[in-house]
Amino acid sequence: MKIRLTLLVLILLSYSSFGQDLSYAKEIVEQLASPDFYGRGYVAKGDKLAAEYISNEFEGFGLQTFGKNYFQKFKTSVNTFPSNMKLVLNDEEKIAGTDYLVHAGSPAIKGKFSTVRLSIDEMLDPNTLSQKLRSAAGQFLVIPAYDPKEFSKEQQDRITEVLNFIQYHPDNPAAGTLLLTKGKLTWSASTTVYSKPTFTVKINDSQQGIQEVSVDVTNKYFDQYQSQNIVGYIDGQNTDSLIVLVAHYDHLGMMGSAALFPGANDNASGVAMLLNLAKYYSTNKPKYNTVFIAFGAEELGLIGAKYFVDHPLIELSKIKFLINFDISGTGDDGIQVVNGKVYKDRFDRLVEINAEQELLKQVKIRGEACNSDHCMFHMKKVPCFFIYTLGGIQAYHDIYDKSETLPLTEFEDYFKLITLFVDEL
Ligand SMILES: [Zn+2]
Repeated sequence: MKIRLTLLVLILLSYSSFGQDLSYAKEIVEQLASPDFYGRGYVAKGDKLAAEYISNEFEGFGLQTFGKNYFQKFKTSVNTFPSNMKLVLNDEEKIAGTDYLVHAGSPAIKGKFSTVRLSIDEMLDPNTLSQKLRSAAGQFLVIPAYDPKEFSKEQQDRITEVLNFIQYHPDNPAAGTLLLTKGKLTWSASTTVYSKPTFTVKINDSQQGIQEVSVDVTNKYFDQYQSQNIVGYIDGQNTDSLIVLVAHYDHLGMMGSAALFPGANDNASGVAMLLNLAKYYSTNKPKYNTVFIAFGAEELGLIGAKYFVDHPLIELSKIKFLINFDISGTGDDGIQVVNGKVYKDRFDRLVEINAEQELLKQVKIRGEACNSDHCMFHMKKVPCFFIYTLGGIQAYHDIYDKSETLPLTEFEDYFKLITLFVDEL
């Protein structure tokens, strides 16, 4: 009995001491990455549904608002693919998301086209290139899969230049382009529509003889789509300085009505970290006033974060430290800390806490990188880290970034490390 009681006390202590709740984190990731949120993009207002979900959670933890609610609205342009998405090569229909991606900035297109194959060697010869491009008028260009390592640095630069012309320049006379690849399909989002469509198609060597392309793609472009950041705060003991914790909640949405990009790791997992921290600090009064921001439109080019720093709801100069959580769902190989080299003292402390508490496998240092929302604050001289987890699954910006396969391996230790770090700032 005595042993059992001690065990029970130990379990309760370990459970409550950091307030971290893995089942709550799992629930958030499952919810936000489910089809109900349409990939948190701009098809079926997925971004708004996610924003409302987060706002409700903020309210549940009693976070305070800066205005009449948690929303900071802003507008952005965005290209979307809400309905038709069909690609048939010769007689074989390809599966959206699995076999191919349409470039996020592609316009609508419908019809049957013959093809002109443009090899990489032909691209590198200016005369052949212009002759081939002229001959491709009204047809589809097919660019074979190639390995950049087989080309020199100068050749690679030239290939990139030609590919940019083919994809983005209105003077390309072709009706569209197929880029064949043996690599992973990685999608993105676009605020612009280009004049010609490009499809990236996964293909085997034996499948390179494509004579006919049949397509049906519908896009919908918004030049004034209203999106939003969700902002709340918790009063601390000291109101002179602010701690700011942020994560983007948007993802790529849908590519046609069938291909869903769930964005479990990117970045439902970061939102799970943010909401867990909000939950924790709602019952453990923080040292400083602590602001929680879920940013919109990160995938479109850090647009929500840019809007925030241009229209700040707080004095940016009062921010003692900001942490951006983007991709928090693994941790098998530890974490990477962007700006670790810039704020080396802070970074060293993070490493020390991690070692003292025996938490993560490693805390890796990195310099500046403008690869997520923290960058907008960094450019305004706000001290900040961007932290992401390393190892585990490789799904990224694809249909495989699902909650079912996101392990949240080190989530609890990662959470513990962050709270210990924040508490001594
Ligand atoms: Zn992200």
